[in-house]
Amino acid sequence: MEQPAIFSATLGLSHPWQITAVSFSKDEKRMDITIDFAHGSTFTCPTCGKEGIACDGENETWYHDNFLQYATYLHVRVPRIECCCCGICTVERPWSREGSRFALLQ
Ligand SMILES: [Zn+2]
Repeated sequence: MEQPAIFSATLGLSHPWQITAVSFSKDEKRMDITIDFAHGSTFTCPTCGKEGIACDGENETWYHDNFLQYATYLHVRVPRIECCCCGICTVERPWSREGSRFALLQ
């Protein structure tokens, strides 16, 4: 599908992040994007840079008031990884890098 590829590029997502759903409401000028990850995938540890295997995930909602001209909600399962050096870590959210205007709602 073409559209999720555009969204992943804009959000800075690459494998093993996956966009699993996108929905628009033209009337409300609202977009909802659901982001998940593949079971058993590996992510980079934010502390030491080593690869860790995702062991579980936490649900988060992020909001941007004008993403591609839509009020946008990201519904994300953010993986927690088991790092051999640091223990359990929550990975970096690519869409929340400096300069991004996504804010964590909950
Ligand atoms: Zn680590």
